[in-house]
Amino acid sequence: MAADGADTVTAGDPLIELRDVNKHYGTLHVLRDIDLTVGRGEVVVVIGPSGSGKSTLCRAINRLETIESGTITVDGKPLPEEGRALARLRADVGMVFQSFNLFAHKTVLENVSLAPVKVRGRKKEDAERRARELLDRVGLAAQAPKYPAQLSGGQQQRVAIARALAMDPKVMLFDEPTSALDPEMINEVLEVMRRLARDGMTMVVVTHEMGFARSAANRVVFMDGGRILEDRAPEAFFTAPESDRAKDFLSKIL
Ligand code: ADP
Ligand code: MG
Repeated sequence: MAADGADTVTAGDPLIELRDVNKHYGTLHVLRDIDLTVGRGEVVVVIGPSGSGKSTLCRAINRLETIESGTITVDGKPLPEEGRALARLRADVGMVFQSFNLFAHKTVLENVSLAPVKVRGRKKEDAERRARELLDRVGLAAQAPKYPAQLSGGQQQRVAIARALAMDPKVMLFDEPTSALDPEMINEVLEVMRRLARDGMTMVVVTHEMGFARSAANRVVFMDGGRILEDRAPEAFFTAPESDRAKDFLSKIL
């Protein structure tokens, strides 16, 4: 669903909620009083200068980082501390990073099918059938028997997306998924993400691809210095940013 020009568009009931979240690294206050709600089926693009806390925000939602105060809930439940509940949370919250992080010594098919067997308890043949469907969906059916090093960066990133989808996540987090790619491969990855968005996946996407933000996002969240300074529909944000920080940022990248 495209943004409709209203200032804040929240689709569906809340799937992710952050309330008054704070985190420091030593003396550096990296997340400051963060309040953020992501509705089911919503696509939220997070932008902001380097060092503003975007990756830390994503990592906190997946509990790859702990927070010092505030609450984070996914689908109404607070983040688990450890153990199997944490493994399930990580499966529910799919994450795709800038670097592809595929298992180098496993085939593409294994990369996509192994975790569902281990974490979700699926049968191997079911997981492999589903993995082939997902590889087909990201345009890589023919690459199933290959190893990551035999693929281009754009193909590897699409495998990483298929691998996260294989866990049937409730939400997908993307942290600059195209930043490490050669320019000609960026679009094939963004296209897969656009299709996911159209199919109703709830997504939080950190990206500098403003075209993607304009075309796919329901909301744009602008961060600076660990704070959320703006949280608005893309059209409103891009045509009339409110904060000087956002104006300055946009003038540099657009
Ligand atoms: P962004 O993704 O917006 O570039 P990050 O969330 O990666 O920002 O980082 C926010 C700030 O926290 C930066 O100043 C960064 O240097 C710092 N930082 C990130 N990770 C760590 C860490 N593990 N230890 C100490 N400082 C960190
Ligand atoms: Mg980052």
